[in-house]
Amino acid sequence: MVQLRENRSVFYRVKCPDCENEQVVFEKASTVVDCTVCGHILAEPTGGKAHIKAEILAVLE
Ligand SMILES: [Zn+2]
Repeated sequence: MVQLRENRSVFYRVKCPDCENEQVVFEKASTVVDCTVCGHILAEPTGGKAHIKAEILAVLE
């Protein structure tokens, strides 16, 4: 019997729109995620999936 893995963790590899730094952001980040280089907000928590405010380069499952 095949079961869907609903609660797997997904991460996004994103690129900061300001400085092009690449970093990995958790799909369900519960706190604001800042760019580690310039401080630009990359993701904001929404209670569910985080709102990603950067270019998503890849989805890592
Ligand atoms: Zn940046």
